[in-house]
Amino acid sequence: MSDSSKLAADYFRRGAEALAKQDLTAAIEAIRKSVKLDPTNLLFLQTLRGCEKRQRELDSTMPKTFRIAVIAGDGIGPEVIREAIRVADAAAPKSDARCEWTHFPWGTDYYFQNGRMAPADYLDTLAGFDAILLGAVGHPSVQDHVTLNGLLLPIRRRFDQCVCLRPAYLYPGVDSPLRNKPGGSIDMLVFRENTEGEYANIGGFLYRGMPEESAIQTSVFTRKGCERIIRAAFEKAATRPRQRVASITKSNAQGYGMVLWDECFARVAAEFPNIATESLLIDRAVMEFVRRPESFDVVVASNLFGDILTDLSAIIVGSMGLAASGNIDPTRRHPSMFEPVHGSAPDITGKGIANPLAAILSVAMMFEHLGLDAAASIHQAVKDLLASTGPKTPDLGGNSTTEQVGNGVASHIAN
Ligand code: ATP
Repeated sequence: MSDSSKLAADYFRRGAEALAKQDLTAAIEAIRKSVKLDPTNLLFLQTLRGCEKRQRELDSTMPKTFRIAVIAGDGIGPEVIREAIRVADAAAPKSDARCEWTHFPWGTDYYFQNGRMAPADYLDTLAGFDAILLGAVGHPSVQDHVTLNGLLLPIRRRFDQCVCLRPAYLYPGVDSPLRNKPGGSIDMLVFRENTEGEYANIGGFLYRGMPEESAIQTSVFTRKGCERIIRAAFEKAATRPRQRVASITKSNAQGYGMVLWDECFARVAAEFPNIATESLLIDRAVMEFVRRPESFDVVVASNLFGDILTDLSAIIVGSMGLAASGNIDPTRRHPSMFEPVHGSAPDITGKGIANPLAAILSVAMMFEHLGLDAAASIHQAVKDLLASTGPKTPDLGGNSTTEQVGNGVASHIAN
């Protein structure tokens, strides 16, 4: 018997032992190795096929499990994430699924103890998950660039989460700070570029701390980076009834990066002749978001412009506490990350009054990304709750707690 046949027989024996202990996963793993080493052995092959068939039968009766990494983070992050998880656990069975949550204590508390926001290998740790759910990162006594560059921005770049998707929908029952806006009248989807542009973090200081001190900050716009976010926006617009895309630019004053952006927009737009387009300078766009928000359908913007515009779009549909977002790798090679748009909100931390709906709607986006139609039941529950006299947090004019709102959504889904 050759060495490889002996090894194959050994793996097969281990597989048989695992089968005797009813450990089907270990059995398949071992017998696969024996088949690989000795592909002509019919006994190995038939046993493997039998085991795989049994595994498929079991899989079809078992809920599908998604492994989710949770970084609840700072401030109100843990408060709203607790409710988001409650709602996810109530909704997942509707898609015969369950979530397995793994919590990571990273953020500014970790920074105070360890001098960094997360362990050195945190990106490797996250790589194995199906998705990441994040609460908020930030602390009044730590500069934002430390918290952002120490945790959040590397995740977006390493996992190529080039699309930051931020919907803004005015739910019936919610008052916009703008006059005479009926529920449903504002319904836009902002696609924010998420990996380069003004947040590329390239630059440096010269004569630091001296009277001559100076700083250089460079933006990076690549054809690949611009085209992929713009194309993602057009592809989404093609599935929506209004079929419109607005591009946000500043090419009148930023004569390189933003000119490349405009050229990419024109090139991609030509691939979608049925979609109506407009191009707005950022200063004009902020004005039009207030003056005619109903006219926007899909909006595509660079990292900085998208960041600023989505705080505006969040507030014109009622509250930062309703704004969800997804940082998405459209190729699905890496985990995508879902998080409320709002920050750590230190002014209301610990009071139990943070609105958890942005985090809950971020879970709905995560479910959509994972292909779980239970996302629709979360959307419906939020819509029904907001349109009714159900629990609402103070930012929406109510006096309920974070937990009462989370419970309200979860029990609506369960019923
Ligand atoms: P950070 O530095 O972490 O971004 P911030 O206070 O500058 O924190 P946000 O956390 O976005 O920025 O808060 C902006 C305002 O919106 C605050 O007044 C905050 O209380 C309010 N806010 C943010 N999120 C919520 C929420 N989920 N529910 C209620 N109010 C919120």
